[in-house]
Amino acid sequence: MAKLDQRRINFVKDLPIDVRAQVLYEFLKVGTSNRKIETLIDALAEEDGWQAWAVIHFYGFDGKSKAKYPTLTLKKIKESLLNVNVEELEEYHLATSNEKEILLKVNFTEGDGKDVLRTIKARQGQYKLRKVLLQNYQSKCAMCEINHPKLLITSHIKTWSVSSADERINPANSILLCKLHDGLFEYGFISLTNDYKVLYSPSFNFEGQGIGKNLTFTKPIYDMPSNEFLKEHRVKHGYE
Ligand SMILES: [Zn+2]
Repeated sequence: MAKLDQRRINFVKDLPIDVRAQVLYEFLKVGTSNRKIETLIDALAEEDGWQAWAVIHFYGFDGKSKAKYPTLTLKKIKESLLNVNVEELEEYHLATSNEKEILLKVNFTEGDGKDVLRTIKARQGQYKLRKVLLQNYQSKCAMCEINHPKLLITSHIKTWSVSSADERINPANSILLCKLHDGLFEYGFISLTNDYKVLYSPSFNFEGQGIGKNLTFTKPIYDMPSNEFLKEHRVKHGYE
């Protein structure tokens, strides 16, 4: 799935919602080519195809989605777009996290109009989960003092790709972590005991990376990480 850079994201965000909906309609339902779409819609000035391409990819679609949504209506697309959280999508495009990559791939495989709506619901689920975690962890990494929103990630305890739909949006299967601690946790260089003591992998050279082994886990106000998922994490990464 292609990711957009900031310039193209800004281009899409500046387009009126009607124009974005029209582009998606032409592409997803009618199967019009990118270049042709740009000749049909006045607001798209260029005719080299990339402006339409940017809109299509911004919303997570690609060539495989062309003409694959025969039951869509313009109204339905517009309603869906109004419900999409643009900041969350922007974050997806700018993020390097593989988990979000999987999220998009899983949701756009086949379909009709229902799939679009389902996809948006899944996205909103992710967005809501992030909101819940930001509250539960008081907008701060559970392992350090970092609190800049762009540096904070909803880190899944049980791997996203093997989690059920419910597990993916379960706050007890997630920890709010900064990008560094998310990386350490994702690769199993750190883990947690059932009473939330931090475990350190002997196979990772913390000193060599300038990372202290003095982490404490700050518990969330609600939705403590579940022991079941933590155990899975420890087993997966060889702690037990
Ligand atoms: Zn941190």
